Amino acid sequence: MDTIQIKDKRFTTFIPEEKILTEVARVADEINRDLSGSDPLFVSVLNGSFMFTADLMKRLDIPCEISFVKLASYEGTSTTGRVKELVGLNDDISGRTVVIVEDIVDTGLTMQRLLETLRAKNPKDIRIATLLVKPDKLQVDLKIDYVAMNIPNDFIVGYGLDYDGYGRNFRDIYIVED
Ligand code: 5GP
Repeated sequence: MDTIQIKDKRFTTFIPEEKILTEVARVADEINRDLSGSDPLFVSVLNGSFMFTADLMKRLDIPCEISFVKLASYEGTSTTGRVKELVGLNDDISGRTVVIVEDIVDTGLTMQRLLETLRAKNPKDIRIATLLVKPDKLQVDLKIDYVAMNIPNDFIVGYGLDYDGYGRNFRDIYIVED
């Protein structure tokens, strides 16, 4: 078991890279199967989902496009509930099948807000693909179409996810020590 220190917190290996990549490949297979022929636009929510997005896209073999947006609601280790505006979506999504690519759904408030914003632009269909879900923290009723892994409520870093800006570069996912 590997431990890392980021600022004032210690983290322990929780999900190794190999397991992450297996589950990302499974999600990609599901998307290849479900969305073949629908010319989807993937909307990747930065910053946290950049690694997931890259590994997922490498496994997709259907014609598709990708766009990157930003929408942040998080500070430190607890959700603030404050949600910022969506920036960076320049594509016309009306009539398109859109797949939101997110790093983690915690309370679900960020995703709910993003769905509302995207629905107002009249897409044909919106699906959600997320690397991680904390099912016990969900506060809103969300249909999450593609989930790589469910995790407990603890704070995690690595594979794109940060603690105060750091830790995104780690290949494995780490969980905070008590
Ligand atoms: P929600 O709105 O679902 O409560 O929060 C979603 C956002 O909170 C995620 O996109 C992510 O940025 C952040 N977040 C939630 N849980 C964690 C966690 O355990 N670790 C990290 N690094 N970010 C998290």
